[in-house]
Amino acid sequence: MPQPLDVLQTVFGYPNFRGAQAEIIDHVIAGGDALVLMPTGGGKSLCYQIPALCREGVAVVVSPLIALMQDQVSALRQLGVKAAALNSSLGYGEQTEIERQMRAGQLDIVYVAPERLMTEGFLTQLERCRLALFAIDEAHCVSQWGHDFRPEYLRLATLHERFPEVPRLALTATADGPTRREILEKLKLEQGRQFVAGFDRPNIRYRVTAKTSARTQLLAFLKSEHAGDSGIVYRLSRKNVDEAAAWLCDQGIDALPYHAGLDKAVRAANQDRFLNEDGVVMVATIAFGMGIDKPDVRFVAHLDLPKSLEAYYQETGRAGRDGLPADAWMIYGLQDVARLRQMLATSEVSEAKRRLEHGKLDSLLGYCETTRCRRQVILDYFGDASEPCGNCDTCLEPVESFDGMVAAQKALSCVYRTGQVFGVGHLIDVLRGSDNERIRKLGHDRLPTFGIGSEFDKDEWRSVFRQLVAAGLLRVDVEGHGGLALTEGCRPVLRGETPIRLRRDQAKRKAPARTERRRAILAEAGDEALFEALRALRRDLSRQQGVPPYVIFHDATLVEMARHKPRNSSQLARLSGVGQVKLESYGTAFLEIIGRFTE
Ligand code: ADP
Ligand code: ZN
Repeated sequence: MPQPLDVLQTVFGYPNFRGAQAEIIDHVIAGGDALVLMPTGGGKSLCYQIPALCREGVAVVVSPLIALMQDQVSALRQLGVKAAALNSSLGYGEQTEIERQMRAGQLDIVYVAPERLMTEGFLTQLERCRLALFAIDEAHCVSQWGHDFRPEYLRLATLHERFPEVPRLALTATADGPTRREILEKLKLEQGRQFVAGFDRPNIRYRVTAKTSARTQLLAFLKSEHAGDSGIVYRLSRKNVDEAAAWLCDQGIDALPYHAGLDKAVRAANQDRFLNEDGVVMVATIAFGMGIDKPDVRFVAHLDLPKSLEAYYQETGRAGRDGLPADAWMIYGLQDVARLRQMLATSEVSEAKRRLEHGKLDSLLGYCETTRCRRQVILDYFGDASEPCGNCDTCLEPVESFDGMVAAQKALSCVYRTGQVFGVGHLIDVLRGSDNERIRKLGHDRLPTFGIGSEFDKDEWRSVFRQLVAAGLLRVDVEGHGGLALTEGCRPVLRGETPIRLRRDQAKRKAPARTERRRAILAEAGDEALFEALRALRRDLSRQQGVPPYVIFHDATLVEMARHKPRNSSQLARLSGVGQVKLESYGTAFLEIIGRFTE
């Protein structure tokens, strides 16, 4: 039997296993069942791909997204692994040919959608094959409470009755305690082992900024830090997706829209371009992302608040799977907070569910408004203790907080005195004692709160109001004119009984040194010109073969090439990501480019 470490090095070209990979792989090779929980980018695929190559027979991988199976298969074939995908896009002839190859033991790995796997016809076929293992990817799809529920997944429970000898491996990146128990129960995996890796994604830099002008801020972020990079921009509504994508295109950015309202063919084509080309920005609703295995997504930008911290972590987790520097960047403002609070208040759900959702929203807003290390806040939420990370905005530029009692009282009483119907713009004018006609007409210049807030400028007051809404002391009438009103919760603050600390937003502080932030990945590579030349070669090769560039080599491998400048194939083979088959296929071409830069 081939040894796992040998396979890792010769086939995949990686020097060592990461985290629990070795342990998981040994367990499965020995025939054990397991549930593997690892963050996105943690390296789940190898946990079944290597046992698939070490054990006899074919491994059957259940994956919910047919559209994405082909990329996984292409990537494996590039490594010399005999892989295929069975899905509805195949003709009858192609399908029976794959089934024949499975029976003949000519395939290492077959990807299959759950509904196909569980057909009687296919199960009968499987009984005639030698099976290495079953891998159930995105296993949280079995959970009825999660948002990715797939009824077909429930039927996978019967696999072990039918194939008791075949080890089963369930994998997911998103499972809190209850979901995890549900997976174990629904898939009948209680007897198996659980491997739970830490949740941290150290290469992702988390940043959250107050929203002033979404478009301008996004454009500045893209241009100064991610020119030419692939990334995802999340928006809440379809309309906003279309607008933002069109606008970015006008600004010279290669952006595409993606949401459930688009024609299926358009959606598929856009997804295809995102996966198959370098440097496409996908502007999308959350309909986009599950199962996207693109390793070189360099940023995930949120222009609207996500639904919860779990959702945020899952969405941002799509950045930087390759381990290279990546950004999770979000902007939000008062309106966003108000909208979420309102949606919750008016949604027709049970009281228990509402309380749960409230808790989730509070955690999310707490994350946005925190003055602590953002990563600590996230990891705390998932139950992992950690130290301040040094790679988030609050660590890099600590945020000041101040005793907000007086500011809060001024703001709240201004809301009260003006009758709890005015929006934040007017309230700020009153607080700052602005001389305008509207104020005079309403007689608001005669209120005791008129002009008592000149110590803050407009942005600072905006920040105070946003934080008061986030903390649930004020609510916003979203359907009406955006008027602010007091909530029950504000009483103790008004009476001065509970202290309140506010953060000092730093919108106006100097932007972090732009040159230093400019395309972190180029900084990693050292030799910018060589890195770009290697990328160009990779792009040509990928076009010739009709596969995504990262299937040829990951960015991480190109970075290594640019950094170490190998002179011959034995030096090249030592780099991470260069396995035997890739060395044979591409070694000469890449060495030639490197040679030109080292002369
Ligand atoms: P997941 O499915 O957990 O999101 P993947 O299996 O796609 O993650 O792996 C993420 C990235 O890490 C991939 O680019 C993969 O090639 C790489 N990777 C996985 N294991 C190793 C390893 N032991 N050494 C180096 N790179 C690895
Ligand atoms: Zn931090």
